[in-house]
Amino acid sequence: MPHYTFALKEKKVIAKETMFFVFEFGDQDFKFRPGQFIDISIEDPKYKDDKGNVRAFSIASSPLDDYLMIASRLTDSAMKKSLAELEIGSLVHVDGPLGSFKLHTDKSIPVVIITGGIGITLFRSIVKDATENNSEQKITLIYSNRTPEDASFIEDLEEWQAYNNNFNFITRWTKEDGHIDEKFLKQHIKNLAAPYYYVAGPPGMVAGTTQLLIEIGVKEDNIKFEEFAGY
Ligand SMILES: Cc1cc2nc3c(=O)[nH]c(=O)nc-3n(C[C@H](O)[C@H](O)[C@H](O)COP(=O)(O)OP(=O)(O)OC[C@H]3O[C@@H](n4cnc5c(N)ncnc54)[C@H](O)[C@@H]3O)c2cc1C
Repeated sequence: MPHYTFALKEKKVIAKETMFFVFEFGDQDFKFRPGQFIDISIEDPKYKDDKGNVRAFSIASSPLDDYLMIASRLTDSAMKKSLAELEIGSLVHVDGPLGSFKLHTDKSIPVVIITGGIGITLFRSIVKDATENNSEQKITLIYSNRTPEDASFIEDLEEWQAYNNNFNFITRWTKEDGHIDEKFLKQHIKNLAAPYYYVAGPPGMVAGTTQLLIEIGVKEDNIKFEEFAGY
């Protein structure tokens, strides 16, 4: 598997307990497809525990970016604490890209993405790429979070919606309005049976969303998902 060493260029808190990290490629030629992920380990981690120093992260930047972006939900594991406190210029080791999660290519079938919290990362890459390449694919992204403070990349997604006529961005704040349900989906998706559905995030979120889609009559074959195992 290809191996790279990248230096941290920028980091920022972007939502409650969530940060993004941007790494420089240097002179390395890193290629990937939107929807893929990488394994990252920190070269000289500040903290250590028996769960080790390697974690999978979806790539949140697009192939046109001259940097690699990931976003992480912060926890008190040694790896996540080391990542949060990483100093600019520190090195990480990257293995990948990995995974085959990608949108279908038939442009006549609409895409509906349903995600929450940190599950947004790979879809940021997918939507940025579709917007940069003037894709004719109709994409609806439904992003569910407890409150706006829990949501990442809202400004980016709103900006891409403003100039990509094929991209429709919908938020759901569950503290106020409850979890996504059949009524909400029917309100936003004209024909529930027509699209292919894409779901990613922590396993509990993926299982709940997939179950709801099946209950309202979406064919299992029309649902693609990626679980962020480890939560
Ligand atoms: C394809 C993929 C993409 C991901 N993308 C992101 C992302 O973009 N952002 C993000 O924040 N997180 C992402 N994750 C999750 C991330 O890799 C970590 O597992 C998670 O953040 C928890 O790490 P921790 O240090 O907080 O927890 P810890 O308690 O230290 O546990 C994490 C580690 O424990 C092991 N582990 C624990 N439970 C399981 C399980 N049920 N199945 C398999 N292994 C387990 C794994 O080795 C894992 O790396 C992704 C995971 C996968 C598989």
